[in-house]
Amino acid sequence: MISRSADWKHALATAVRDPADLLAELTLPDHLLDGARAAAGEFPLRVPRDFLARMRQGDPDDPLLRQVLPCAEEDLEVPGFVADPVDDMRARRGPGVLQKYRGRALLVVTGACAVHCRYCFRRHFPYGAENAAQLGFGAALAWLAEAADISEVILSGGDPLMLDDERLADLIRQLSQIPHLKRLRVHTRVPIVLPGRVTDGLLAALTGTRLPCVMVVHANHAREIDNAVAGALQRMHRAGITLLNQAVLLAGVNDDVQVLAALSEALFAAEVLPYYLHMLDPVQGAAHFAVDDGRALALLDGLRGVLPGYLVPRLVREIPGADAKMPLTAVEKPD
Ligand SMILES: *Cc1c(COP(=O)(O)O)cnc(C)c1O
Ligand code: SF4
Repeated sequence: MISRSADWKHALATAVRDPADLLAELTLPDHLLDGARAAAGEFPLRVPRDFLARMRQGDPDDPLLRQVLPCAEEDLEVPGFVADPVDDMRARRGPGVLQKYRGRALLVVTGACAVHCRYCFRRHFPYGAENAAQLGFGAALAWLAEAADISEVILSGGDPLMLDDERLADLIRQLSQIPHLKRLRVHTRVPIVLPGRVTDGLLAALTGTRLPCVMVVHANHAREIDNAVAGALQRMHRAGITLLNQAVLLAGVNDDVQVLAALSEALFAAEVLPYYLHMLDPVQGAAHFAVDDGRALALLDGLRGVLPGYLVPRLVREIPGADAKMPLTAVEKPD
């Protein structure tokens, strides 16, 4: 396994960014290229070769590919699918700080990600203006120091593990000096798409603090968790990090009971418990990933029928203005 910082930075630098390269690498037909190029103009393609290597050759419907390949459907205007579906701008508390829920504040530490997920609810987020790393963390830390009711800080983005070990360790050191903070949470997809990022330096940064660390990773399909990923997750678990997963329910990727059950099993084998299964946020360009409520609830019922309760994720939706992520419940049918 790669574990030095030079290696993961090299892996990032050599990620596939040209749709033509992605199609060629996977021996996919050329007719996908025009749509991919057009959509990539809006939100660029980015996929590390490590993740690409887990996709099937010649299969345009591969569930991993579908998450990252720009396509013509992204250009469709669909009513209800908007630029900021979760009303992040209203939750802004300071430069790079969002608060929606009691006791928890989210820090947008960087706009960068190791992979670009086509369904991302932040695909239109104005990172230039809302990126604590770019501004320096001073103002965000000052806000947190004043916010005595915040007990948990969530490093998010973009992807916080795009920061190097020194910057992360420095940020975490400063957070640990804020007395009312009790927990550090990290929301990241990096250990899934680039397991080599889990270096000794990263483990030291995350565990060398008084703040217990909860990491919420993001995998949507069991095939994302190969041996290298499982190894990286197991190392973090052994280092004392609590590991959870959030997935997004995505048409053509994981909208199937067997697929979701296999994901939970693969996560558990890698020391990760399923946390949330999110309904797709209605972000412009992602309507082709939507699964309707009725099907989502039926899938959840199916999962309950085959898995122990602790491997069934909470099916939730973000409702702008609500005081928590809301569980999906059966719609009352009139008699
Ligand atoms: C989702 C989210 C959280 C975390 O919510 P939990 O239910 O605690 O996982 C915190 N802050 C913001 C702004 C969020 O969007
Ligand atoms: S890694 Fe997360 S924030 Fe980055 S594009 Fe994917 S879903 Fe969005």
